[in-house]
Amino acid sequence: MSNGEQESWARVKERLRAEVGDDVYSSWFARMDLEAIEEGAVRLSVPTRFLKSWIQSHYAERVLACWQAQEGKVTRVELIVRSAVLRTAMLPKAKPDMGLDNGSRYTNGNGNGRPLSVGDPSVHEALGGSPLDSRLTFETFVIGRSNTLAHAAAKQVASAKRGDAVMFNPLYIHSGVGLGKTHLLQAVTWAGNAAGERKVLYLTAEKFMYGFVSALRTQTALAFKEALRGIGVLVIDDLQFLQGKSTQAEFCHTLNALIDAGRQVVIASDRPPSDLESLDDRVRSRLAGGLVVEMGPLGEELRFEILKARVLAARAHHPAFDVPLPVLGYIAKTVTHNGRDLEGALNRLLAHNKLTGHAVTLEMAEREVRDLIRPQEPKRVKIEDIQRVVARQYNVSRSDLLSSRRTANVVRPRQVAMYLAKTLTLRSLPEIGRRFGGRDHTTVLHAVRKIEGLVGNDMALAEEIEILKRQLQE
Ligand code: ADP
Ligand code: MG
Repeated sequence: MSNGEQESWARVKERLRAEVGDDVYSSWFARMDLEAIEEGAVRLSVPTRFLKSWIQSHYAERVLACWQAQEGKVTRVELIVRSAVLRTAMLPKAKPDMGLDNGSRYTNGNGNGRPLSVGDPSVHEALGGSPLDSRLTFETFVIGRSNTLAHAAAKQVASAKRGDAVMFNPLYIHSGVGLGKTHLLQAVTWAGNAAGERKVLYLTAEKFMYGFVSALRTQTALAFKEALRGIGVLVIDDLQFLQGKSTQAEFCHTLNALIDAGRQVVIASDRPPSDLESLDDRVRSRLAGGLVVEMGPLGEELRFEILKARVLAARAHHPAFDVPLPVLGYIAKTVTHNGRDLEGALNRLLAHNKLTGHAVTLEMAEREVRDLIRPQEPKRVKIEDIQRVVARQYNVSRSDLLSSRRTANVVRPRQVAMYLAKTLTLRSLPEIGRRFGGRDHTTVLHAVRKIEGLVGNDMALAEEIEILKRQLQE
């Protein structure tokens, strides 16, 4: 190769580096070499197939443009893998059997059954997305009072087009267990990928952690980050499980990078952003900066509608399965817990019906679902609610409770509120301290002990606290 060609190549690399930035340049192009220039065709080589396909799908045009800016006669850039040795060990492994009746039910949801990511199996593993359940779509999601807003927001996200202004970012959905978060998130993923506008990646927080950690181990962290940035919509389920300092730093990084780049982020968690204790303040405020929607408990009417829809769906496979409406009404009324228990109840009726051939009756239903009938699930109590209710009860303001004032008329209510926060929520002492104007956990502990000591002797206070508890749990 001539000196002139090598010189041109050096300039092209400089141009490329200037355009994509040092980080991107060093992760993707540092090991790219010039092999030959022949009649307007430039042949470049990289050491791995992964790099090749990544550069091809993400930077092909840019590389060509840089060449053309340098050498007007270049019309084509060809990319080859330097080593011709085929590493069979690196070929993607067959998917493990998910142990389900229907193997096709779980796929990565990008519509074509293939993994989302490019060649390299380690990145592929990290970014393949979590399994999706083909039944969890918008079509099977029943809308009711408690989920109207969450559903509308999810729909909006799923139908947005590439380049549309992002309306709320992130979309953050939270609720108690079994109320449809995963269902909505997977619906967004299915619908978004079917529309084909933007690549939607669904990950559980665990998968995010696992993916990142394993990517680090195989030293493709940069590749991982870069690949994540290629995602149009990132969906993360069960964010409360995100743990570990480095994972969080990475999550924060990814979140910022995606949001700043105008990519959509959708998150579900069992608590509001302010209650994600282990995350640092900046991440929490970033999470709270989009649209935060809570889904309430499934009302009886909604439960009834979900059951009806479920029976219809079951009849597609079991035409003889018939559940009289009064039975559905009974289940909707008594099995109050959550969507999962509703499903469990119907499954039992179906099993009983199939195994014995007996028709489903009210008596049978009463017998079969007896143990699913539980008292009303205790409400999730929030620290804000405690502060509000206590402040109202004692006629002080919420900011008094959070302030550093030490006058008796605020000290006692503050202690009561801290005590309730400790007994009615799962929050830790440091977290409670933080939520009460940044107090130390020892202060909270002191308050809790104080009130515990007092209620033993002071009947009036004990009763007051009982009333507050009842108000909060209703
Ligand atoms: P979460 O993720 O909030 O714990 P899931 O999304 O896993 O809850 O829902 C639990 C079960 O209840 C699933 O089978 C889901 O399909 C069902 N479910 C919950 N809400 C609805 C709804 N609005 N319409 C239809 N099914 C629902
Ligand atoms: Mg879930």
